[in-house]
Amino acid sequence: MPKTATPTGKRDLYAEIPAEMKHDCKKCQSLCCTALRIEWDDGEIKEQDVVCEHLTDDFTCGVWDKLESLGRGLCRRFFCLNSGPEICSPLFREGTDWRKTPEIAPLLFNEFRRVYIERFKAILGADPEKNDAKQTSPAATASPNQSRG
Ligand code: SF4
Ligand code: SF4
Repeated sequence: MPKTATPTGKRDLYAEIPAEMKHDCKKCQSLCCTALRIEWDDGEIKEQDVVCEHLTDDFTCGVWDKLESLGRGLCRRFFCLNSGPEICSPLFREGTDWRKTPEIAPLLFNEFRRVYIERFKAILGADPEKNDAKQTSPAATASPNQSRG
């Protein structure tokens, strides 16, 4: 697969992924905001399996308009290779979610992490656990996560 670069010379991973791997957060129950350990731009950390304090009851981000000023710009650049929507699709079909059925949450979050990490390695040759994705993700202006707010 050809490699692409941002104007700053960094590899633009989001530009390399196939269209069917581009996510729509409206088809997801915010698995990245919950299942993942996140180290934000300002050094603050959210541990894995901890719900972000800014996640609303309807699975949107309560601070989407001010992510950068809060040191949360990483959230705008994040993408999951469509892992979240795929894993959540049976829940939408059943009319439930991990808040209504909390007993499914551990399995759901584990599965999301597994698929998300495997896809990054297989498709982009990047390891999210080593922060490869954070270092090389596109500029915030690309807003792959724009449907998140
Ligand atoms: S980026 Fe992916 S995992 Fe995160 S909310 Fe959007 S679709 Fe879900
Ligand atoms: S997108 Fe919003 S709710 Fe999700 S982790 Fe970032 S700040 Fe929290």
